[in-house]
Amino acid sequence: MYVVATPMGNLGDITQRALEVLRSVDAIACEDTRHARRLLDHYCITATTFALHEHNEHEAGAKLVEMLRGGHRIALISDAGTPGVSDPGAIAVAAAQAAGFPVVPLPGPNAAITALSAAGLTDERFLFIGFLPPKSAARRAVIEQLKDVPAALVFYEAPHRIEECVADLAGVLEPQRDIVIARELTKLFEQIARMPLSEAVAWLAADDNRKRGEFVLLVSGAPPREGLDAEAERILKLLNAELPTKQAARLAAEITGVAKNALYQRALELKP
Ligand code: SAM
Repeated sequence: MYVVATPMGNLGDITQRALEVLRSVDAIACEDTRHARRLLDHYCITATTFALHEHNEHEAGAKLVEMLRGGHRIALISDAGTPGVSDPGAIAVAAAQAAGFPVVPLPGPNAAITALSAAGLTDERFLFIGFLPPKSAARRAVIEQLKDVPAALVFYEAPHRIEECVADLAGVLEPQRDIVIARELTKLFEQIARMPLSEAVAWLAADDNRKRGEFVLLVSGAPPREGLDAEAERILKLLNAELPTKQAARLAAEITGVAKNALYQRALELKP
């Protein structure tokens, strides 16, 4: 079984190896067979296709395993980008692996990684969230949970929810954090705009075209907290109440890994 990443807009974004595999397999499992035809026809790929999507993945996965058992070589593609990433694929992959068949990934386009590569965010880490819940209360609750994550946050969003989603990000996260709105990647109207979160709602409202297409939203990681984190503060307070300041700061530094100087300064502030 081959899991093959396919273009997310520009049909030129397909690897040599992906084309070789798609040309040589016995069948291709597609999220949408009609959508896949556009790509397959473009590259004169005539393989048989069958549907494997979120509503039939268990049955279609079982069918795929039967075909593997019959000695067939099968490729799996989704409508755009990498299967299994906010797309069907995981259930079929697990079924093939459970049946003892090797699953070979063919790397290629992915909207999150493509957006990250041109986002200009300097965070060392990123956390891929994908789609947030569609309803605002649930969406805000998830964003709240992500508030302190020291990594860039990466979201997928559909055009009809882009305004409310950006409004919730701006409402919950610190306004000085950067947001990158990456739209229509690899397509004709590709746009990548970076701005402080506080400006994002107005930026979208200023031009209807900015709300069209497919979106990746990236938000820079949580700003460093002022002062000590809650656990370091708690430990320092306990030690500081019992020991001389210097000793309390030294022990708190050993326990928490926080710099001794910062703890010493805070311990001085805490002494009555
Ligand atoms: N499997 C895909 C991948 O590897 O990125 C993601 C599929 S998910 C169902 C579709 C979402 O991905 C869109 O709603 C959008 O958020 C994002 N996306 C896909 N193509 C995109 C593009 N060309 N530009 C920006 N975002 C895109």
